[in-house]
Amino acid sequence: MMLERVIGRFNGRKKGPLVLVFAGIHGNETAGVVALERAFNMLQTRLPGGETAFTGALLALRGNLPAIASGQRFIDRDLNRMWTMDHIHRIRQAEPGHLQTEDREMTQLLEVVHNALYEYQPEALIMLDLHTTSADGGVFVIPADTEASLRLAKTIHAPVVLGLLKGIEGSLLHFTEGNHFAVGGFPKQCLGVAFEGGQHDDPASIDRCLSAVFTTLRSAGCIPEEALAGPYDMLLHTYASTLPKVTRLRYVHHIRPGDGFRMRPGYRNFQSIEAGEHLADDAEGSVYASCSGLILMPLYQARGSDGFFVVEAL
Ligand SMILES: [Zn+2]
Repeated sequence: MMLERVIGRFNGRKKGPLVLVFAGIHGNETAGVVALERAFNMLQTRLPGGETAFTGALLALRGNLPAIASGQRFIDRDLNRMWTMDHIHRIRQAEPGHLQTEDREMTQLLEVVHNALYEYQPEALIMLDLHTTSADGGVFVIPADTEASLRLAKTIHAPVVLGLLKGIEGSLLHFTEGNHFAVGGFPKQCLGVAFEGGQHDDPASIDRCLSAVFTTLRSAGCIPEEALAGPYDMLLHTYASTLPKVTRLRYVHHIRPGDGFRMRPGYRNFQSIEAGEHLADDAEGSVYASCSGLILMPLYQARGSDGFFVVEAL
């Protein structure tokens, strides 16, 4: 099956921001892809006035096509850890035969986004990156480190996690933060959030991603405040009502190939843990919590470079 890069485009009659949504940057996280397919269907059939009632433009892209096709997080390299200007220069100078799968994906994504920016020349680019996690209950929003991104993140009904970008490098959010998509002077401003919609295979993760997409479009002023509201919005409202609104990263447990990292069973996102708690095992023995807090993204899949995160409520 040949997957298309573009999930959909929607061009409002009135000029406004370009909302750029990525899904499947990790190939085993397809809830966002399905949510976006539904979102375009609903925009076409259930937005009164259709494109005439839409302000700005929406472009949704599938991230890692070969990884999506094979149901894997990535083929050669994590596509959400390589968005740096250095790496782009390296790719541009490399022999085509020396490029890894994700280098080619990145090149194609950049080309599609650059073409859209050339064409539309928006003042603002609003990036939404849809993900899911291997553990249950992981629903949260990560803003790029700008005031405008944080404001946008807070409108999505899920806990906001600050400081996660400090634990990793080369994510799409880092790229957004530096406005590195910009071409020909556009956009002037770039804001971005990543949304974690829940467990990979939970059907509700699709609904939560759908809600995040429409909330972002409302917050960006693309669609009216009450447009396309639905039961999927309630899912997030209900979920977020018992969780802290804003949390900050305290600790990341990085793992390397050969660590043999195994998370102990039963950890859920935002579950309280105590300093000294036996969380996992690896080649060197037991892994204990170095601080108390709430656990985030405990790793229950074979691939990934972080074992778990610990956050504190602010
Ligand atoms: Zn992901």
